[in-house]
Amino acid sequence: MPISAELHEELGKRLRQSREALTATIRARTDGDTDDRPAISPNAHMGQNDDAPAGEMLSHNEEHLAEHESNMLHDIDAAIGRLESGGIGVCVVCGCEIPEARLLATPTVQTCVQCQERIEKEQHTGRGPTL
Ligand SMILES: [Zn+2]
Repeated sequence: MPISAELHEELGKRLRQSREALTATIRARTDGDTDDRPAISPNAHMGQNDDAPAGEMLSHNEEHLAEHESNMLHDIDAAIGRLESGGIGVCVVCGCEIPEARLLATPTVQTCVQCQERIEKEQHTGRGPTL
């Protein structure tokens, strides 16, 4: 068991909460496809007049959002799977233990800081990660 029982419980709680919030957001948008603007963001209504154009620009934006959300949902499900199989908290690249603070900050994280930085650097230079 790479992580403590307390951390295991805390991560499970956070992952389930994130998942619920995310699925609620997705549901609110797909169900609320009417004239009412879905309350996704508390700032969404700010600076908008009644005659503000809403249409193609918004739908493009929502398409992008939906993709982002389904990616996030995939990450959360994968993290829950790792949590249940006991594989969470271990870097998938080097196999070292991921620090507790990092896991708490980002429960879906799969790599340690060093590997994350290396991957980002490699992506930045256009090369794929080399194992
Ligand atoms: Zn690592």
